[in-house]
Formats: sequence, structure tokens, C-alpha cells
Amino acid sequence: MNLDGILPFARKLLEKTVKEGSLAIDATIGNGHDTVFLARLVGESGHVFGFDVQQQALERTAALVEEHSLTGRTTLFHRGHEQASASIPEKWHGRISGAIFNLGYLPKGDKSIVTKPETTIQAVEQIFSLLQPGGLIVLVIYHGHAEGAVEKDKLLAYVKEIDQKTAHVLQYQFINQVNHPPFIIAIERR
Ligand code: SAM
Repeated sequence: MNLDGILPFARKLLEKTVKEGSLAIDATIGNGHDTVFLARLVGESGHVFGFDVQQQALERTAALVEEHSLTGRTTLFHRGHEQASASIPEKWHGRISGAIFNLGYLPKGDKSIVTKPETTIQAVEQIFSLLQPGGLIVLVIYHGHAEGAVEKDKLLAYVKEIDQKTAHVLQYQFINQVNHPPFIIAIERR
């Protein structure tokens, strides 16, 4: 396939804005794959802030980050992404280059713990206000589970209302695939 799949496209978007020395956010660290990806992009002089509500996610991510010798450039918070503004030092507000949300449940984890529309939207609002101009939020939306379908509808309703003078909002989706494939919403601060 020549078209980018969902996860490769999400990464391509982040590579556009997250560079050596950047500040980035992994809003749902889970097993830590995106944290490692971002930590490589920001290099030694940048930093990644990660959030998750599950101790297991913190442990898995810390282990993966350590395995790749990237520990010094990451800060992992055992708390919800809806606390992003209060967690990230004020001097870095307005300087975040990129953020990723991989919504849904932890793969190989407790499927009853899922991201929720209200807190996801709160986090998107907060992180948007932390972005530098041109900074990006990339959301990968999984809607094959019941809560995910509700989250998808609420998020789409929310992002469609974002004033086009403040942000570019993109949807990237395969529209002829069966079984509710994930899709991307990307929000660029103008
Ligand atoms: N990006 C991860 C990876 O590379 O492995 C996968 C993330 S997984 C699909 C979704 C994660 O969101 C779960 O680990 C879950 O615990 C977490 N989560 C649920 N509610 C959250 C919240 N309010 N704030 C931050 N993380 C949350």
C-alpha cells in the first residue's frame, strides 16, 4: 500500500513539528512506544512529558524508555492528561511542539480502563493552549468498543466547532474498511 497507514501517518505528522530540542507530550503513554518515538525526536536537548492513569503503563513505559537509554529526556506523570496544564512547568507553556493521544484501552492491559470523552476534551483544550504556533495535537481514535464510539462522536462534534482562525483541523481516515478502523484527527495551532 502506498498510502500511509494510520500509525505511520500519525508519526509523519509529529515529525513535521517535533525536532531536536523540542518539547512534546505523550498524553496516553500506555506501553511507551510513542514516548520512545517522541524522546528520539526531541534529542538530548528536548523533553517529553507523558501521562497515564495506570501504574502498569507507567512501569512499562519507564522500562522501555530505560531500555533505549532515554530516561533523562522524559518525565512521566501518574495522572490524567486533563491535568496537563498544572503538571507542565509554566515556563514551558506556549512552547510545546507536538502531542499525541492514542485513545482507548491499554493493549495487553485492563480493557475496562479507557479514555473518556469529557477528560479527553479537557486535555485537548489544555494542551492546545500549551502549543507554540504551528504546534500539533494528533489524536488516534479507536471506536470499535462501546465507550470508544461515544468518545469518537463527542470529539468530532467538539473539533468541528474549533474556530478556523485559531486552528487547522484535519481528519485522516480509510472510509472503505470494515470493523471500525482507527482514524486520525490532527489539530494545528495557527
Ligand atoms: N500510546 C500507547 C502505546 O504506545 O503503547 C498506547 C495508549 S493506550 C491505547 C491508551 C492509554 O490511555 C491506556 O494506557 C490508558 O490507561 C490511558 N488513559 C486512560 N485515561 C487516561 C487519562 N485520563 N489520562 C491519561 N491516560 C489515560
